[in-house]
Amino acid sequence: MRVDEVPIPVPQPHQALIEVEWCGICGTDLEEYRDGPVNIPLETHSLTGRKAPIALGHEIVGRVVESARDGSGPRAGDRVIPDVVLGCGECWWCRRHQEGLCVRSAVVGLHADGGLSEYVAAEAATCVPVPLSLRADVAALAEPASVAVRALRKVPSPIGSSLLVIGAGTIGLLVVQVARSSGVRKVMAVDPEARRRELALALGADAAFDPAELEALSAETTEGIGPDTVIECSGVPGTAREAMRLVRRGGTTVLVGLHGREESFDLLDTVLGEKRVVGSAAHLWDEDVVTAVTMLARGDIDGDPLLTTYLSLDQVAKGFDALEAPLANAALKVLVTPHQAYLQATSGSTTP
Ligand SMILES: [Zn+2]
Ligand SMILES: [Zn+2]
Repeated sequence: MRVDEVPIPVPQPHQALIEVEWCGICGTDLEEYRDGPVNIPLETHSLTGRKAPIALGHEIVGRVVESARDGSGPRAGDRVIPDVVLGCGECWWCRRHQEGLCVRSAVVGLHADGGLSEYVAAEAATCVPVPLSLRADVAALAEPASVAVRALRKVPSPIGSSLLVIGAGTIGLLVVQVARSSGVRKVMAVDPEARRRELALALGADAAFDPAELEALSAETTEGIGPDTVIECSGVPGTAREAMRLVRRGGTTVLVGLHGREESFDLLDTVLGEKRVVGSAAHLWDEDVVTAVTMLARGDIDGDPLLTTYLSLDQVAKGFDALEAPLANAALKVLVTPHQAYLQATSGSTTP
């Protein structure tokens, strides 16, 4: 992986050219940095026609510099979140607006050039406008926030329910906040790191546990019944099984975190306990990204405490180190900008 000079992308008629203001990096990018290529294709991708080398970056906010030639989408000057999930538009799932499930689906920043760059070409029709009231750096959380929004969408009946979030990293802390404003009565978070538990409480969790005390406390907090919903955001091997075990009988486990291995689970407990398990992947631009932008703009989601690290594009490797640091010092959301002036404008930036 390297920082390189490449030509400015030439947008297709249905694409807008976006000047990137901020681009977040996350565990998915870290995987490519450390062990890649993992998702980045070495053979030409059937949908995007691209293969490595590819510019990373899927958590993008920027200004439109050229609107799409076909007239779709935003105008020049508009600040937008370009949606990054691409479908073929023709398969059974795409015809039902389930592009995330498309057999040829692609993600900008993995299968096509992304936002760790000065410019990105994006599908104009699925660019989500950012209201002026929302700061650009906070708006960069729209993509991970839309992952949290979609996870809550999988909860059958959030109002008045109890919900346990496993992993209080960026996604987990966003899930805590989306759960709060979805009417969840009791939000619990579990994380081995005290600082993250404190942050979960500050952002609206009613309780936050260390994994060692989880079993006792999650039962105690739910009158011995167990949470109605468990949302697994850590991606730590063995945790999905744990989530399915902890949820109350008749409850729902939503799996968001990922790892590449298989997980075993207790068949008896799941079948006899009539437990639901559902995966939640990425987001749809109109349902999830629009909602995430609205919630950030309205203050339902407080993005500020999650923005721990601001870096310029040429320092991006430091961002990966910050994400990989031991948990006590690890960054939450690392934002990268190609504009030096933007860095000077940010306050409260702490680079671990
Ligand atoms: Zn991400
Ligand atoms: Zn498709």
